[in-house]
Amino acid sequence: MDTSCFTQTQLDIHNSVNKICAQFTDQYWAEHDESGEYPHELHAALAKDGWIGIALPEALGGAGLGISEATVMLQTISQSGAGMAGAQSIHANVYATQPIAKFATEEQRQIMLAGLIKGDYRVCFGVTEPNTGLETLKLKTQAVKEGDNYFISGQKIWISSAQVATKMVLLARTTPIEEVRKPSEGLSLFFVDLDKNAPGLELKRIKKMGARAVDANEVFFDNFRVPIETRIGEEGKGFQIVLHGMNAERCLLAGEALGLGYAALGKASKYARERVVFSRPIGQNQGIQHPLASAYMHLEAAKLATYHAASLYDNLSQDKSITTHAVGLACNSAKYLAAEAAFTACERAVLAHGGMGYSQEYHVERYLRECFIPRIAPVSREMIMNYVAEKALKLPRSY
Ligand SMILES: Cc1cc2nc3c(=O)[nH]c(=O)nc-3n(C[C@H](O)[C@H](O)[C@H](O)COP(=O)(O)OP(=O)(O)OC[C@H]3O[C@@H](n4cnc5c(N)ncnc54)[C@H](O)[C@@H]3O)c2cc1C
Repeated sequence: MDTSCFTQTQLDIHNSVNKICAQFTDQYWAEHDESGEYPHELHAALAKDGWIGIALPEALGGAGLGISEATVMLQTISQSGAGMAGAQSIHANVYATQPIAKFATEEQRQIMLAGLIKGDYRVCFGVTEPNTGLETLKLKTQAVKEGDNYFISGQKIWISSAQVATKMVLLARTTPIEEVRKPSEGLSLFFVDLDKNAPGLELKRIKKMGARAVDANEVFFDNFRVPIETRIGEEGKGFQIVLHGMNAERCLLAGEALGLGYAALGKASKYARERVVFSRPIGQNQGIQHPLASAYMHLEAAKLATYHAASLYDNLSQDKSITTHAVGLACNSAKYLAAEAAFTACERAVLAHGGMGYSQEYHVERYLRECFIPRIAPVSREMIMNYVAEKALKLPRSY
């Protein structure tokens, strides 16, 4: 990793996490991608050395660092060759817990986060629904209060790691949309036990294009009981609370995309130096050099946008010149730019390998499949454009 633009702490994080990731070879990731087996060992190794709680409070056993440092960690994981699969096996534990750290009571924080930081269990993030998609405010999963419990009914989709996670950060509607002043009201956030044997819960794994080592799932709730103490913050304020995790998620995904892009360029330039055709390395041809050089510059620019966004996120509460509006714009823009730069780098890396780019042996085809994830999730390219057009350019809302 280029050392410019990073603090000494961030470089130390990069070096330490990189050492752990070095135990997991390209072969490990290729095999896990093929078999669909979960990379449990990476989570265990990172948890053992205290990395899961990188951005969680020290009082709970975390490192008390920011999303900037967590983004360095996720970029490092992805860039090591673990790619999106490696990053996805960790990231929800970092971003989905941010709203818990900020909005839960002291008692809830202890119960919910201390064990997660130690690696005893992990969390998945349950927002997306099949019938409402990016129109999050219309989500249909309901939580109905009865006595000391809520009963959850509805369906989530694309929930990563739900097979291995025993907790879920879940967004559900507690007041029907017809009864609230604004659609952003009436949603509540829960930190629930995802007990696969409990009545009213069913999971179905989705077959997918890339990062196959990490499961993606449809999750069905049918009067699934969760105690009232699992609600985070005030009832009906869940959307405002979860946004705190969503901006963090955009920064982490941006870092992961960057890591994948740099990894692809690393493979491509190595191959271009070594592969000799027409009596010289293919990398001596500008037709090979220039696409890779321009992909590198796009990654570098996206890197600045990413760490700028993470820094705004981290400094929002201390620095009065930073607005939530600026944080939202920066985090969305960074995710967009990093995902596009990663796509360019991965596509060009495949092409620079010629036929071997299409072979599993050189790993870049896996990166290309994986780099679609940050382009689609957690928010699509089009929705980011809609948001930026409205919020930065003051154009009429189009959606
Ligand atoms: C590998 C993977 C892992 C994921 N993990 C999780 C997870 O752990 N937890 C979770 O909650 N979700 C997860 N997701 C879901 C992800 O966040 C959603 O897929 C994403 O937000 C897009 O939503 P959608 O698929 O419903 O797209 P849709 O809302 O159906 O949109 C489809 C297309 O239409 C476009 N579109 C829709 N409306 C407009 C408009 N007004 N203007 C312009 N274009 C528009 C979109 O940009 C998109 O291209 C994951 C997805 C993937 C692929």
